[in-house]
Amino acid sequence: MNLTPALPWWQDLTPSRIAALARADAVVLLPLAAIEQHGEHLPLSTDLDIALGLLEAAVPKLRPGLPLCVLPPFVPGCSLEHSGFAGTLALGASTALASLVEIGAGVARAGVRRLVLFNTHGGNKALVDLAALELRAAQRMLVVRAHSFRFPPPPDALPAEELRHGLHGGALETALMLHLAPHKVRREAIDRFESIGVRMAAEGRVLGPEGEAGFAWMAQDLHPSGACGDPRLADAALGERLVEHFATRLARIIEDARDFDLEGLVERSPPPDHRG
Ligand SMILES: [Zn+2]
Repeated sequence: MNLTPALPWWQDLTPSRIAALARADAVVLLPLAAIEQHGEHLPLSTDLDIALGLLEAAVPKLRPGLPLCVLPPFVPGCSLEHSGFAGTLALGASTALASLVEIGAGVARAGVRRLVLFNTHGGNKALVDLAALELRAAQRMLVVRAHSFRFPPPPDALPAEELRHGLHGGALETALMLHLAPHKVRREAIDRFESIGVRMAAEGRVLGPEGEAGFAWMAQDLHPSGACGDPRLADAALGERLVEHFATRLARIIEDARDFDLEGLVERSPPPDHRG
């Protein structure tokens, strides 16, 4: 794990400096990633490398003086879908949810009221969404669910089919890694890993691995290699463009989190006639 000194880490501070951060109404960001297989061409750290790489690129884009602090990355997360492959580490969903809520409660105890959950791993999505709501309900804090894979990609960066089906170790993640951590990419293992989703779409099925009617999948259901997508479309120049694009988006999210009116987070229960 590359805990780069370029980021303003929570764990580098002392109690009085954390208190000052809370008084400054800082945004605290928790990176969430995974330690899980990404086929034979990418390392187990892929989602973590991408999270920290995007964050490092986002910080210089923030408006000057914006108070930001970064929590130690939350790994491993929920990777049950990759547990059939050696090296994957995974927390059970209830363990992960309890841990995440307790980390958020610790942040709230320090007086911080703006928390961004920045998640680069699809398997953590449900976890992040549930934890964010629990924290909002219990702590009356702003909790942002920022999933990098939901950030709109640059137009024409990759074919629509690859963006839709290259879910894991495909062109997008491989390009990001070719820019952020090229020494970790095993180029000789790059191949086309066609997801079952491509065939189902070609047959005109509504059902697929994701989308309006997605089925629960283990990675080997999509492709026996554990990867899916076409990483042959990736190169470092595309990765650089994607990092710039997604980091700009992340910086904007952090700024919006700082500007959000906390008075809008109503503490009282709504009147009885407004309850659903
Ligand atoms: Zn990944």
